[in-house]
Amino acid sequence: MVARSNARPKPATARRPRASIAPDTGALLEALPLACAIFSGSDGRLLAANALFGEAFGMPAGLEELVSRFDSLQAGECNSPVARREAFHAPTRRWHEIGTSAFEHEGERCLLFSAADITERQAALSAHKSQHEKLLFTSRTMSVGEMATTLAHELNQPLAAIVNYLGVGLRLLGRVEAVDPRVADALQHARGQAEHAGQVITRLREFVRAREPRRESHLPAELVATVLRLLALEAEKHRVRVDVDVPADLPGVWVDRIMIEQVLLNLAKNGIEAMREAPPRQRRLDVRALRNLDDNIEFRISDHGCGLSDSEASQLFTPFFTTKQDGMGMGLAICRSIVEYHEGRLYFERNPGGGSVFVFTLPSARQ
Ligand code: ADP
Repeated sequence: MVARSNARPKPATARRPRASIAPDTGALLEALPLACAIFSGSDGRLLAANALFGEAFGMPAGLEELVSRFDSLQAGECNSPVARREAFHAPTRRWHEIGTSAFEHEGERCLLFSAADITERQAALSAHKSQHEKLLFTSRTMSVGEMATTLAHELNQPLAAIVNYLGVGLRLLGRVEAVDPRVADALQHARGQAEHAGQVITRLREFVRAREPRRESHLPAELVATVLRLLALEAEKHRVRVDVDVPADLPGVWVDRIMIEQVLLNLAKNGIEAMREAPPRQRRLDVRALRNLDDNIEFRISDHGCGLSDSEASQLFTPFFTTKQDGMGMGLAICRSIVEYHEGRLYFERNPGGGSVFVFTLPSARQ
C-alpha cells in the first residue's frame, strides 16, 4: 500500500515502491480482521473490499450507497483524515464501529473504510446500564422508604403527645365557664391538623413500601459476580484490586435479589471509597462468602482503608450518620434493615491488617 496522508515523508533518496490497488492491496485487505473496503476519494466508487466487508454489507456501488444504510452516518463525515464513530446498520440491525482514513494512491485520493461489529458489546453495555439504573432506582426508593420510616418514628411520638395535650386542654376548657368559644375551636383545629400530619406520614410509608420483596434461591457466587461487574469501572477508577473468594458450590440464599445486590453494592462501594487516600498497592477489596458454624451463609467485605474510630463505629448504622461531604448517611441503615428483613445480621469488625470488615449473614435457601 502506498503512503497515507498522515505517513511520515520519506527521504528524497528512498525509492518509492511501485504498487497498485490489486492484487497486493486485495491480499492486505483480506488479512485484516475487520470488514474493510477502499473507495475513491473523488467519486466514491468502490475500488476494493475484503470478504468480511462483503459478508457484512454486500457490495455497494459506492460510499454514498453504503452510508445511506447506516443511521447517523454521512458520506462527507468519512472524508476527514482519520475518524471513528459508532453507527447502526439498518438492513442487518447491527452496530458497527466505523473507522475511516484518507490516503493517496498514485495521485488519487482514496478512503479506507473499516467496520468492527460491536453489537454484542452494545447489548452488554445497555444491559449493564439498565441493571445499574434499576439498582439506583431501588436504592433511591429504599432511601426514601428508610427516611420515611425514620421520620415516622421520630415524628409520631411528638405528634401523638400534641394530640393528647390538646385533648386534655379541650377537656379542661370544657370545665371552665365563660371561655371564648373561639379558643376551643382553635384547639380543635390544632388537634385535627396534628392527626392529619400523622396520617400523611403513615401513607408515605405505605407508598414507599408498595414494592413487595420477591424471595427466591440465589447462588452467592452469582450475586457477588453481578455486583462486581457493576463496580468494575469504579474499582478501576480508584485503582482498587478486588479479590473474590466465593465458592461456586455454596448453597443458595433465600433472598430478594435486588435488595441483597444493593447491600453488597453499598458495602463494596464504601470499602472502595474508604481506600481513596491509601497507597495504591494497599488498595485491595476482599469479597468472601462462606458457610458459618450456624449453617448460615456469611458474606465478608474487607477493605484496607482508613478504618473507623470507636465513636464512628458506634454510630455507623444510625440514619444520617456520614463523614462524607456528599454522603447522605442512609446506606448502612438501609443495608441493616434489608439484612434483618432477611433474618440475617449485619455488623462491623476491624480488619486486623488495618481498615474495616463488614459482615452480613443470610439463611441458606435449604433452611
Ligand atoms: P454514606 O456513604 O452516604 O456516608 P453510609 O451509611 O453508607 O452513608 O456510611 C456512613 C458512614 O460510615 C460513612 O460516611 C463513613 O464514615 C462510614 N463508613 C462506611 N463504610 C466504611 C468503610 N468501609 N470504611 C470506613 N468508614 C466507613
